[in-house]
Amino acid sequence: MNTELNEIAESLNTSLSNVQHQEATIKGHLSEVQQEKSETQAAIERINLYRSGSRPLAIDECLNCFIRHGRDSKMTAIPSDSGIDLFRCRECGHEIEVKP
Ligand SMILES: [Zn+2]
Repeated sequence: MNTELNEIAESLNTSLSNVQHQEATIKGHLSEVQQEKSETQAAIERINLYRSGSRPLAIDECLNCFIRHGRDSKMTAIPSDSGIDLFRCRECGHEIEVKP
């Protein structure tokens, strides 16, 4: 084959390889973004359960676990001397203060 044809073919193969690599990277990133979008939409649907009143708030329920992860976790009371009780989630570490 003609040398010029060989050079052009080699250049095209390199370009194809580069764009294929870029395409794979973008597809991987798109997949991560779509997953995050889906999880965020699901969290918004869960927070709307409270806002609409179809899921009542419970004092010992971890809102962070339920809203962000769809997980039912209980908060544990942590006594304090300051007069402000603390509730902490064993699953995610989320804390809330409960004033008497
Ligand atoms: Zn939690």
